Amino acid sequence: MTAVVLFTRDLRVHDHPALAAACRDHTTVVPLFVIDEQILAGPTASPNRAAVLAGALADLRSSLRELGGDLVIRRGDVVAETLRVAIETRADTVRASADVSAYAQRRERRLTSEASRAGVAVEFSPGVTVVPPGSLHPAGGDHYRVFTPYFRAWRQVGWRPAEPVPPVVPIPSGLHVGELPTPDDLIRGERSPKLPTAGESAGLRLLDNVVRRVAAGEPDYDDLAADQTSRLSPYLHLGCVSPLVAARRLSGRAPALIRQLAWRDFLHQVTAAFPAITTTDYRTRQTRWRHDDDALAAWRSGLTGIPIVDAGMRQLLAEGWMHNRARLITASFLTKTLGLDWRYGAAHFFRWLVDGDVANNAGNWQWVAGTGNDTRPNRVLNPIRQAHRFDPDGEYVRRHVPELAEVAGRAVHEPWRLSPAERAGLSYPAPLLDRPGSH
Ligand code: FAD
Repeated sequence: MTAVVLFTRDLRVHDHPALAAACRDHTTVVPLFVIDEQILAGPTASPNRAAVLAGALADLRSSLRELGGDLVIRRGDVVAETLRVAIETRADTVRASADVSAYAQRRERRLTSEASRAGVAVEFSPGVTVVPPGSLHPAGGDHYRVFTPYFRAWRQVGWRPAEPVPPVVPIPSGLHVGELPTPDDLIRGERSPKLPTAGESAGLRLLDNVVRRVAAGEPDYDDLAADQTSRLSPYLHLGCVSPLVAARRLSGRAPALIRQLAWRDFLHQVTAAFPAITTTDYRTRQTRWRHDDDALAAWRSGLTGIPIVDAGMRQLLAEGWMHNRARLITASFLTKTLGLDWRYGAAHFFRWLVDGDVANNAGNWQWVAGTGNDTRPNRVLNPIRQAHRFDPDGEYVRRHVPELAEVAGRAVHEPWRLSPAERAGLSYPAPLLDRPGSH
C-alpha cells in the first residue's frame, strides 16, 4: 500500500500528522510538492516568498533524504499532478494538511472529488494551526468572532500530542524526483535584500533560541528598536516550524507569545468560516474610502514624510518583514488617517511579506480598518504618539530612514519642528498631512 503525502505549507518532517500517519500505515510513501502554476501566475505571488519557499523545499528534501526518503517535485495544477503521481505509483491514499483559505478549501474539495473518481482515498490531517479551525465554537455560532472568549476556550481545550519525526520514510524505488526550483524558476521580480534563512532546520534553531531567551523573562515586544519579537512568522507561515510544537515549548514560559499564537489560530478559524476575508469586509462598515494615488504611492515607498510610518514601510521593502507595532501604525495610517481602502494596503503587504499569509494578513488589515474583529472598530492610532511611545529615542526611525540618521533623539519623529537651519540639509519629504499628529 502506497500513500502520497502532498506537502503544501507544512514544509517539515517534525510534527507532521499526515506524513507520520502515512509512514505508520503504508508500506511506501511518496512525499510530493507541486509547484502551483496558478499561484505563481496570480496577483498574490511574491518574489520574497518564492525565495523562502525554494530554500524551504531544499531543506525539506535534505531532511527526507536523511530518513531514507526524498521529495518529489512536480509543476502544474496541484490536483491534476497529485493524482498523476498517485496513479503512477499505484497509491491508494493521498494525505495532506487541511488549510483554511478559499483557494485551499477549493483545492481540497477538488482533490477529494477527482480522487474518488480515480479510486484514490483522500485524508486531511491537522498541522497548520495549534488547535484545528472549526474545533472550537461558541454556543449558537460556527466560529468565534471575538478574540478574548476564543483565547479562553483555546487555552482550556486539550492540544493533540506532537508527532515525532518518522524513523524512516520508505519511498518506492525508481521514482523520478524532479529538480528543486531556484527562486527565479518560481517567480522573477524585485526581492528584499535581507531575507531570513529558509527552512525547517533554521526555523527549529530559531525556536530553540527563542525558548532560551524567554527563560530569563519576556521582553517588551512593542519596543520597536529593541526588535525582540520571535521572528518565527516566516517559518510558521510555510509550516517549517509546527505551531503546535512552538506553542508546547513556549507554554508556561512565554504568555505573551502564546497569546500571539492564539491570535494566529483565531484568525485562521475566522478565515475558515469566512473565506472571502481577503476581498470582502467581515463586518460591514459604511466607510467611503478615498482615492488618492499619490498618497498611496508615497505610503508604499516609505515617503509619506511621517518618519515612523516611513521607517515601517522601508523595513518591509528591505527585509520582507515588519515589526508588528509598525504594521499596526502603518496600516492605521493608511486606512484611518489617509482613509484609503485596506485592500490596497493588504495587497502591498502581501507582495512583500515573507510571512504573507491569507488569514493573518487579511484578518489583521480588517482588524485595523475597523471592518474585522476589533471590538473598538473606530480606534485610530496617532502615529506621532505611537512613535514617542514605542520608539522613544528614535532609534528605529534612524535605522530604517537614512535621510534622518543625523537627527538626534526623539526630534527625529517630527522633522517639521526642526529649525530651518537644521532642516536645510535633510533630503526628506514634507509630511503628506498638514498637522500629522492631529488626525
Ligand atoms: P511574534 O510577536 O514573535 O509572534 C509569534 C507568532 O505569533 C508570529 O510569528 C505569528 O505567527 C503569530 N502572530 C503574532 N501576532 C499576530 C497577529 N496579530 N495576528 C496573527 N498572528 C500573529 N502575520 C503574519 O504571519 N502574516 C501576515 O501576513 C501578517 N500581516 C499583518 C498585517 C497587519 C496590518 C498587521 C497589523 C499584522 C500582521 N501580521 C501578520 C501579524 C504580526 O504582525 C506578525 O505575525 C508578526 O509581526 C510576526 O513577527 P514575529 O514572528 O516576530 O511575531
